[in-house]
Amino acid sequence: KARKRFGQNFLHDVGIIRRIVACIAPKEGQRVVEIGPGKGALTEGIISATKRMDVVELDRDLIPILRVNLFRYPDLNVHEADAMKFDFSSLAQDGNIRVVGNLPYNISTPLIFHLLSFAEQIDDMHFMLQKEVVDRLAARPGDNLYGRLSVMAQYYCRVESLFIVGPESFDPPPKVDSAIVRMVPHKTLPCVAQDLKMLEDMVRIGFQQRRKTLRNNYKGVLNDEEFAALDIDPSLRPERLDVDDFVRIANLVSKRG
Ligand code: SAM
Repeated sequence: KARKRFGQNFLHDVGIIRRIVACIAPKEGQRVVEIGPGKGALTEGIISATKRMDVVELDRDLIPILRVNLFRYPDLNVHEADAMKFDFSSLAQDGNIRVVGNLPYNISTPLIFHLLSFAEQIDDMHFMLQKEVVDRLAARPGDNLYGRLSVMAQYYCRVESLFIVGPESFDPPPKVDSAIVRMVPHKTLPCVAQDLKMLEDMVRIGFQQRRKTLRNNYKGVLNDEEFAALDIDPSLRPERLDVDDFVRIANLVSKRG
């Protein structure tokens, strides 16, 4: 039986599974890491191409089922662990990894933040998420859902929403639509934040009140002269700033001390 606290919705739609695997396009020898393999719905399509795979699963009761379903693949490495605490760099010792997963929706945002901290060691990521989370990840300045998650994800990655998956493709069906997202970490960052913590802080402060102006949100942090030096109009709303603007704000505040 599916466990709610582990965010379990198992994929059973073979057409959708095939489509996801086609988007991932796994090749022999690649190091693919799957988060939350469950009973292996996505795993087999991947490991049959790559021949080896690492999977991170928290629910120990699922692991014997997974092993039985994938007994043909001796090079399946199962890590019984919490992906939120997992050191993904330990799997990237001999080259970058690719990360995939039909993620537990209850922890998807913090899990993505955790993964972004390994961006340098990741070639790409493909995730099934709540459609709204995919829309947030991929939102552009001015979009309704553009916010903290969009800026931080796009600081590290090129984000592409691939396709929508309806609730009927899962057992049990979730209450909302899902979507597949592709995130490809930039090989070299288009703009570099001197202090990542500062970037995170400035993005959070900037979006504290979406309907308010930048001047309002950054009160006590940035004055009008500093906005002028950055060539940013303080009467705008935060949704107008692009990633580069937030990086420039963070770098100015870091430098000023
Ligand atoms: N991949 C399977 C599928 O598509 O049918 C299962 C997807 S289900 C939405 C999420 C999976 O993540 C479950 O197997 C669940 O046990 C596992 N999971 C939940 N929390 C986790 C965590 N913190 N770390 C690793 N796996 C987790």
